[in-house]
Amino acid sequence: MKFSKNGTIDRQYRRLVERDGPYCHYCQRFMTAVSGKGKTAMSREHIVPQSFGGTSKMDNMVLACRKCNNRRGTQLNFCKCDFCTEATNKYW
Ligand SMILES: [Zn+2]
Ligand SMILES: [Zn+2]
Repeated sequence: MKFSKNGTIDRQYRRLVERDGPYCHYCQRFMTAVSGKGKTAMSREHIVPQSFGGTSKMDNMVLACRKCNNRRGTQLNFCKCDFCTEATNKYW
């Protein structure tokens, strides 16, 4: 898995991958890189967007592919899983 040109990975991405695996939280797509525009590039997703009071702590973050990230925008309650529901209740 390559995360960036120099082989390093942002610490929180690494923690998210360790916690959840390198999969999109929404569509379970396997992702291979943190940067770039490809289908397998991952991005960090705030469950409750910062503009709604969400933080960048681990309990408000999941990994998402570009496609889902774009599709979701800043929608709340986009995902109904326990983890997202808990974060939504906590921060929103
Ligand atoms: Zn996805
Ligand atoms: Zn969820």
